Amino acid sequence: MRVAMTTLNLFRPSVGAFAIGMAQAALDAAIAHCGAREAFGKTLREFQGVSHQLADVATQVEAARLLVYHAATAYDAGSAGSAGSADVAKTSAMAKLFATETAQRAVDVAIQVHGARALEHGHPLEHLYRDVRAPRIYEGASEVQREIIARALFRE
Ligand SMILES: Cc1cc2nc3c(=O)[nH]c(=O)nc-3n(C[C@H](O)[C@H](O)[C@H](O)COP(=O)(O)OP(=O)(O)OC[C@H]3O[C@@H](n4cnc5c(N)ncnc54)[C@H](O)[C@@H]3O)c2cc1C
Repeated sequence: MRVAMTTLNLFRPSVGAFAIGMAQAALDAAIAHCGAREAFGKTLREFQGVSHQLADVATQVEAARLLVYHAATAYDAGSAGSAGSADVAKTSAMAKLFATETAQRAVDVAIQVHGARALEHGHPLEHLYRDVRAPRIYEGASEVQREIIARALFRE
């Protein structure tokens, strides 16, 4: 059991890194599309209601990336024997939770600003929308990550 749990401490930041790849791909697609698509005589990027959604996603993706780096660093330090394993488990859960939830939001926003074309069969965002869903469930669902984090808080 201990070996299995330690393995999850490594896999959860890895899932977070995978999710950030999806989030960044969605954000890049949204930025490119909003700079090119014109509606009502302007590019979409000129509508503040659109560009601020991208600003929020970009901020969340950056925060998620830093949290994944932090969890990976904590794991490496813990596996060398210097960090407490409970703390590593908490940090790893935070990275997986935040990165996968952020990726879901990033893909959803990218689809919203693309409009109907993103839902066409074979569109890269249609593909991402399907793929981004599973990481919030496997390696422990988001609710399980919150449970791990909450237990660590009360232990502290
Ligand atoms: C694409 C994919 C790949 C997978 N790969 C693997 C693999 O390689 N190896 C492997 O062993 N498994 C794998 N799984 C299985 C995955 O780990 C489980 O689907 C996951 O742990 C959830 O279990 P479950 O589907 O039985 O849902 P359930 O355990 O029935 O949970 C359903 C939902 O209930 C809620 N829930 C469950 N437990 C709690 C709790 N303690 N607190 C609060 N809420 C809770 C969550 O919302 C959860 O999503 C994979 C799943 C997917 C989708």
